[in-house]
Amino acid sequence: MRWTPGDRGNIEDLRGRSGIGMKAGGLGIGGLLVVLLLSWATGIDFLSLVGNGGGAPTESVGTSGTSGTVATTPEEEKLVDFVDAVMGDAQATWRDLLGNRYEPTKVRLFRDAIQSACGFAEAASGPFYCPGDHYVYLDLGFFDELRRRFGASGDFAEAYVVAHELGHHVQSLLGVDAEMRQAQGRNPSARNDLSVRLELQADCFAGVWAHATNKSGRASQGRIELESGDLEDGLRAAAAIGDDRIQRMSTGHVFPDKFTHGTSEQRATWLRRGFDSGDPDACNTFQ
Ligand SMILES: [Zn+2]
Repeated sequence: MRWTPGDRGNIEDLRGRSGIGMKAGGLGIGGLLVVLLLSWATGIDFLSLVGNGGGAPTESVGTSGTSGTVATTPEEEKLVDFVDAVMGDAQATWRDLLGNRYEPTKVRLFRDAIQSACGFAEAASGPFYCPGDHYVYLDLGFFDELRRRFGASGDFAEAYVVAHELGHHVQSLLGVDAEMRQAQGRNPSARNDLSVRLELQADCFAGVWAHATNKSGRASQGRIELESGDLEDGLRAAAAIGDDRIQRMSTGHVFPDKFTHGTSEQRATWLRRGFDSGDPDACNTFQ
């Protein structure tokens, strides 16, 4: 892939503010308990007096884009620039496709753990999109895991992960995810099947973006440009993180009724369909 670093306008860097201890807002669990007990016993809200709101959920999803100091490496900073470039390019593509129906969002970078409108999440759960606050959440450590555990390397493999999460944002804007949740409520036995379809559509949407990047001359305009071999990296990544593969790795068995993302073959197929067509209408996985 050819790309140029931008101004990080697509990133909200929370690496210095997130972490395992964030739940307690830096007080530590013991300190938090003492403060809560004191508040309960005296009727005075000591939690609001210790600053920072004591790590209440609303505080940790604050909208400030600034980060505390964070120990990092040149490689990690390059990865931040890369995620920013991918997100910027993919968002520009969706703005072209959807016009004023598109609303921009950002990637919230975190380390280890984060409080989102969708709840408390740890890095181990992987990157995710939260429809409640419309942000994409990503711990850069996931890319290491993608390489080491799933054997998926190459920058397009990483770009595909970002584009897939942005695909969930597009679904949210189009109302697809709300429709699906209603359908799941009406028919609980179809829960897994519907969730797989939602995931495969996000893969297809990632492909739609990749299609747009597959034109020569884009790099000279500061846009992302696909090079030969890139798509294969993405297809390998899609196949690597299919449910069947993950299940086999962790349990030695495959349980299709527990699939929530689709099989390796399905994921690669829908990514390819988006890539070949460049058309979101080709991504109707619900038919
Ligand atoms: Zn997904």
